[in-house]
Amino acid sequence: MSDEKTLQCPCGKEYGSPEEYKIVFIKKDQCEIDILCANPACHLKELGYIKFKVDRGNNKVFVETAAFYPPYVTWNATRLGREDALKLLESHLRYIIEKRIDWKKIAEDSPSICETKLEVRETEEST
Ligand SMILES: [Zn+2]
Repeated sequence: MSDEKTLQCPCGKEYGSPEEYKIVFIKKDQCEIDILCANPACHLKELGYIKFKVDRGNNKVFVETAAFYPPYVTWNATRLGREDALKLLESHLRYIIEKRIDWKKIAEDSPSICETKLEVRETEEST
């Protein structure tokens, strides 16, 4: 695999490194971190998201879902080929989760709705 392959937003902004995305925590009541395109003129704006839960008792944060949105994925799959694109996208997501997010701060800023609840139930609820 060549290192020269880079991801690109449909707006034209290239992502050679996962350092370049804009990461914001605005949707606090949804416990969701947004991965935004760094190009202010981008028509897509939101490239992906990370949903998480906070376990206050253990001072830990769990990532529930991390994903890029279909337009960004499809665009790159078309440019680079599906396999290479998915590999790169996954490595960018992993990097963002591991290196770019200050989870301690996220946990502090999260409303109580984001906390995991440990519930002990006597019987299984069936739906
Ligand atoms: Zn863009």
